[in-house]
Amino acid sequence: MSARHDPNCIFCKIIAGQIPSKKAYEDEELLAFHDINPWAPVHVLIIPKAHIATLYDAQPEDDALLGRMLGLAPRLMRELGVDDGFRTIVNTGPNGGQEVYHLHMHVMGGPRPWKKG
Ligand code: IMP
Repeated sequence: MSARHDPNCIFCKIIAGQIPSKKAYEDEELLAFHDINPWAPVHVLIIPKAHIATLYDAQPEDDALLGRMLGLAPRLMRELGVDDGFRTIVNTGPNGGQEVYHLHMHVMGGPRPWKKG
């Protein structure tokens, strides 16, 4: 088992196709899928395929990957019809409100009002 895969992680299971998801984007390093409990009309999660538990666990060699996650957000939002603004959030650790310990970027957009935020 690679240290960058956790068989007990729900998002690793989504990457492996063991749990279904509504995919929005996929390449060798990244996956984006629609949040199961959306706060906004469009709410996707962008995740690295490598199991990185939190932003604290990202290493300097992951900087390009983190940059790719951020760079994907506006392109994906445009593809999903969101061209008038969106919000990005990376919850980190218990005080950051993180519930799933596989790094993910929330990307939310669409007409307000939203359920949260
Ligand atoms: P966190 O609080 O930043 O860790 O957010 C975790 C997010 O993952 C929440 O918004 C959940 O709704 C979402 N989530 C949890 N399980 C699934 C799933 O199986 N599919 C899609 N989204 C999920």
